[in-house]
Amino acid sequence: MLSGLPVTTRLRPIIAIDGPAGAGKSTVARRLADALGYVLVDTGAMYRTVALAASRAQTAFGDAARVTELAHALVEAHALSFERDVELGVRVRLAGEDVSEAIRTPDIAQGASLVSAHAGVRSALLALQRQAGEAGGVVLEGRDIGTVVFPDAEVKFFLTASPEVRAGRRHAELVAKGQTVSFDETLADVKRRDAQDEGREVAPLKKADGAVVVDSTDLDFEQTVARMLDVVKTASGVASA
Ligand code: C5P
Repeated sequence: MLSGLPVTTRLRPIIAIDGPAGAGKSTVARRLADALGYVLVDTGAMYRTVALAASRAQTAFGDAARVTELAHALVEAHALSFERDVELGVRVRLAGEDVSEAIRTPDIAQGASLVSAHAGVRSALLALQRQAGEAGGVVLEGRDIGTVVFPDAEVKFFLTASPEVRAGRRHAELVAKGQTVSFDETLADVKRRDAQDEGREVAPLKKADGAVVVDSTDLDFEQTVARMLDVVKTASGVASA
């Protein structure tokens, strides 16, 4: 696994998981991190937190200049914090306030998709993401981990599933949290986010070179995790904690 180049002298690998909304990345990333004893970095939570801050500041998600300024200010003030939580996956704080639940609404998901299209917002969060992952022994999940954040990640996945299956899973999650939303609305939301994430100019969602595609349309959660753990073990002769 170690090629001798300075960038690949990590003792434990970086595992990049990218894919569209609702593919199950968060749950799978969490399980892989636990199984391997690795750190978990949910980059979507970072974009969601910027969207929440913008919404509270009554800044339009599409206002690139103001949202970029806000994202830089939040990073500089160390106002975004992410901490592993057994139940939530990641506990998110915005200026000390626990916003772990507040960032999980459909409005904020849609806002995250819009604010993440701004190059300035992406560059503000890129430094945080690289800091969190560079030492290795980490599972990062998002849309551009294998293409932009860590193109040299030792293990890359592109986790996907059909839009209907993804919407079905997302819908069940939202309903379980007590949110009132129909399947059709959730499907429309998934498709809208796919189009935004794949169609944007900066860091569009796409499979990274060398990424292993895992299509979970016909796989259950345990099968998906087992397949991914096999890939990790084969690729890196892994080193768990
Ligand atoms: O994964 P999650 O649904 O929490 O991500 C919310 C939004 O943040 C996505 O729809 C996507 O637009 C954006 N995102 C991104 N790049 C990442 C992670 C998330 O653009 N690395």
